[in-house]
Amino acid sequence: MELLKRRIQEDGVVKGSDVLKVDSFLNHQMDIALFQEIGKEFYTRFADCGVNKILTIEASGIGIACITAQFFQCPVVFAKKSKTSNLDDSLYHTRVASFTHATVSDVVAARAYLGPEDRVLIIDDFLANGEALRGLMDILRQAGAELVGAGIVIEKAFQPGGAQLRQEGVRIESLARVASMSEAEGVVFAD
Ligand code: 5GP
Repeated sequence: MELLKRRIQEDGVVKGSDVLKVDSFLNHQMDIALFQEIGKEFYTRFADCGVNKILTIEASGIGIACITAQFFQCPVVFAKKSKTSNLDDSLYHTRVASFTHATVSDVVAARAYLGPEDRVLIIDDFLANGEALRGLMDILRQAGAELVGAGIVIEKAFQPGGAQLRQEGVRIESLARVASMSEAEGVVFAD
């Protein structure tokens, strides 16, 4: 998606060898006009999949998921990072290793909002090692829901998550795929 790639080139900041900061339009301040175009693009790619629910993980996936859901006219469920003491039988539970914080979170979603009748599109801001996506897929497996695919805003294609999950048959649509990046050279896109 050219508009997004241009914005990453203009406003993205590379930290170290593998973190891309896009706080000015995606992860802190949110550019809703851009989100609108992103949502429209996800809709174009998954329009014929019978999506009736969008699943994301807090916090930064929520904004994108909500704007995207306006095109699909469906609800958004966001998996919550939880304290273990809150776990009970009314929740699906999984664990997700955080790429950015080097921690492992307990992640939950209410059984009431996901079940076998659901055809689910997962939305997230970044794909790196695929941990967040795998956690959300685990929740869908527990729910007996159908995963139609994942819409990712920025995939760091030099990290293994995307290739591994595609190999396993998951449909992943990424709007910007980063082939490599460095503080000196900035971002190079894969396609
Ligand atoms: P994964 O679970 O695929 O390893 O990493 C994806 C999650 O980590 C996303 O939900 C995102 O919040 C965060 N993340 C991974 N890489 C980056 C990055 O380069 N920049 C930002 N801002 N978040 C990232």
